[in-house]
Amino acid sequence: MENPTPIEPVRIALKKSESLDIDWSDGVKSHFELRFLRRMCPCAGCQGERDLLGRTLLPVVRITYDGPITAINAELVGNYALRMIWSDRHSTGIYSYTYLRELSKLK
Ligand SMILES: [Zn+2]
Repeated sequence: MENPTPIEPVRIALKKSESLDIDWSDGVKSHFELRFLRRMCPCAGCQGERDLLGRTLLPVVRITYDGPITAINAELVGNYALRMIWSDRHSTGIYSYTYLRELSKLK
């Protein structure tokens, strides 16, 4: 049995005050508003820790927005994820390609 080819971005376009566009190797194109991506930051500080039953406990850190959130940079992490660096200096969110694909189905 062959391993399925992993789906990877073939093009990543960051508009630092608006949106992130990703073209994937299977032809899918994803478009994310930055505000949406910031809110969906997967790190424990933003999403809260999950307990054993999968319930989300209250986030440790409350994020508040003063004005529009922008992205300072997006960096590749290994060959599986994207790290976003935000204008509020938050940069612990690692968005795996799998997670980004899930997010792109939410809209
Ligand atoms: Zn976060």
